Formats: sequence, structure tokens, C-alpha cells
Amino acid sequence: MEHIENDEQYSGLTVNSGVEQPPIVNPYLRRRRKPLPTVGEMVEGILKGDVTMLSRAVTLVESLSNDHQVLAQEVIEKCLPYSGNSRRIGITGVPGAGKSTSIDTFGLHVLKDGGKLAVLAIDPSSERTKGSILGDKTRMEKLSVHPAAFIRPSPSAGSLGGVARKTRETIVLCEAAGYNNIFVETVGVGQSETAVHSMVDFFLLIQLAGTGDELQGIKRGIMEMADGIVINKADGDNIDRARLAQAQFRSALHLFPPTLSGWMPEVLCYSGYYETGIAEVWEMIDRYFDFVKENGHFEAKRQQQARYWMYETINEKLRNHFYNDADVAALLEDREKRVLANQQSSFTAARDVLDFYFKKL
Ligand code: GDP
Repeated sequence: MEHIENDEQYSGLTVNSGVEQPPIVNPYLRRRRKPLPTVGEMVEGILKGDVTMLSRAVTLVESLSNDHQVLAQEVIEKCLPYSGNSRRIGITGVPGAGKSTSIDTFGLHVLKDGGKLAVLAIDPSSERTKGSILGDKTRMEKLSVHPAAFIRPSPSAGSLGGVARKTRETIVLCEAAGYNNIFVETVGVGQSETAVHSMVDFFLLIQLAGTGDELQGIKRGIMEMADGIVINKADGDNIDRARLAQAQFRSALHLFPPTLSGWMPEVLCYSGYYETGIAEVWEMIDRYFDFVKENGHFEAKRQQQARYWMYETINEKLRNHFYNDADVAALLEDREKRVLANQQSSFTAARDVLDFYFKKL
């Protein structure tokens, strides 16, 4: 018999008719939205340590809807008296420094003594990338399956200030749910570490031994904020370089002005992956908490942070109220054009818009 391939009409690319594929989604399954629990139910659940309720409340905190925000604020207010009993630790480092590996290891170390751990994150870039990689469960293999760990990626929408405020509010909820250890992770490349610094008790900077000039490229600001600098990946043939970096950081720290707390930041080497030096890092953190609780700095710093967030929130709300006003936006557009065309000065243009806004209120 003649092969069909020998037929002149044959293109080799025919599609045989087949069986229609069933849809991958069950068409009969209608997604039912679970009704929103009441504020009372949520608070009760959170205080009992119910993770589902905690997650739902955090989702409300992160929501952009005004109704949700109102509910979230009520839940937060009711949880506030039960919050505060935790160690809030900020962890920063450039991508690849080993933050997630280290948080996994540090987290297990902390949980050895019992208690609970919440890992939160602030990643202002997540708005662009649609979803944050920080605080992502898949990056923390061991913690993600630990029953006493609650991992939550960065809130994704809004300005850095907005994202940070939500994380700060989430801390309150987690503490009310009995999480006595809070880690807040951030990438040490932008402004986000300042935001984290304003909500934690201890700020840990993860560094790597570099290739010679260790202090290059490290922003002085971050070094000044750090209560502890830890050099990760001090393992294998990297140990000597890590020790050298340790010595360099130690001498660099001596050049900085004394910290407000009176605490002298320490520099340690460890390996998050091979789990060496972990206990030493944690002993340092214990020493810090003993020190600042003793000299009153712990409480003073928390009060200062509470004040900071009050004003931060006012600033954010005022800014949003102003820029979200359609008439203001129209006038802004007009005045901006005039300023760019040299028809009006920046200052009188700003005054016009502000005058308009204040009269409207
Ligand atoms: P992140 O971007 O800061 O969260 O860093 P990761 O935790 O994802 O780590 C980045 C890379 O460094 C991964 O390939 C890790 O396996 C590796 N790494 C992390 N910690 C260590 C360590 O202690 N020693 C060594 N040798 N490699 C590590």
C-alpha cells in the first residue's frame, strides 16, 4: 500500500480530530466565598491562636477596601492590649546573602525552646513584581512545615510607608495570637530597612565575606542601624575570608558614634546552611535584650516607634486624601503644565493647589 506521506497533498502537519478535552476546572463547582467573620469572632480566634482567623485578619489589614480597613482597625484595637510580648527582630541583607536559609535555621533554633515564631516581610519591590519573594514559604523549607511557625509574605500593594504600616499592624495581631518571636525580613538595598528598623527591637544585618574590600558598597546608614552584624557562609574554604571580614567590620564599627542604647554592636561569623555558629548569634541577641531591658532603652524605643507610626499614619492618610481627590488631581495637572512651561513658579503653583484643597475641606 502507498504510504500517505508520498501523497503530494500531504503536509506532515495535519491535526487528527480527537476527543475534546474536558475543562480543567470543574464547571459545576461554584466558588463560594466564606462569609467574613465578625470582629468579635476574629479577635476571639486570634487570642486562641487560631491560625485561620489570624490569616484572615491579616488579609483584612492588607486589603485596599475601605470597609475592610475599618474592620481591620477594630480588630487591631481589640488585640492591642494583648500585644507587645515578643522579641521583634529585623533581618536584612542583600539578595543572596542567605536570608531565607538563615531564617530557616535561626527559626528552628528559637523554636527549640518552645514558643511560636512569625516571619513577616517588607518588600516594596513586590508591587512591581506582583507578589513578593520575601517571606515566601517555599524559601523556608523547614519552618514552613513547623506547626509553631507562621510565615507571611510582604503585603504587596502601596507605597513603602503603606506596606510597612501593614506589617507593623500584622505584628500586633501575631503577638495577640501568642507569637513571642517575630522576624521581619527585608532586602538591604533600599529604604525598606529604615522602615523595618522602626518596628523592631533588634536589627540584624547579614553580610558576606567579599573579595577584598569588604566595606565597599555597604551603605553606612545600614551599618549604623545594625545591632548585630553576622557574616554568613563561614564554611568550607570561606572560613578565613569570613574571619577577615569580621575583623574589618569590627574595626569599622569603632569609627561609628556610640549607639543610643549604649549597646556596642557585635560582629559574628556563622553558616546558615551548615548550621554552625547559630547558638552564638542567638546568645548575642539574648545579651542585647538583657542589656536594653536593664537600661530602659527597650521600652523607650518601643514608645518612640509607637509615636513614629502615629505620625507616619497621619502623613500617609493626608497624602492619600489629597492626591486621591479628583479636583485636586485636575488642578495639579494644569499647574504642573504651567510650571514646566515656565508660566508659573513651583511655589505659587503649589500654593494654588493647596489653597484650593484647604478651601474645599
Ligand atoms: P536570600 O536571597 O538572602 O534569601 O538568600 P538565600 O537564603 O536564598 O541563599 C542564597 C544562596 O546562598 C543559596 O544558594 C543558598 O543555598 C546559599 N547559602 C545560604 N546560606 C549559606 C551558607 O551558610 N553557606 C553556604 N555555603 N551557602 C549558603
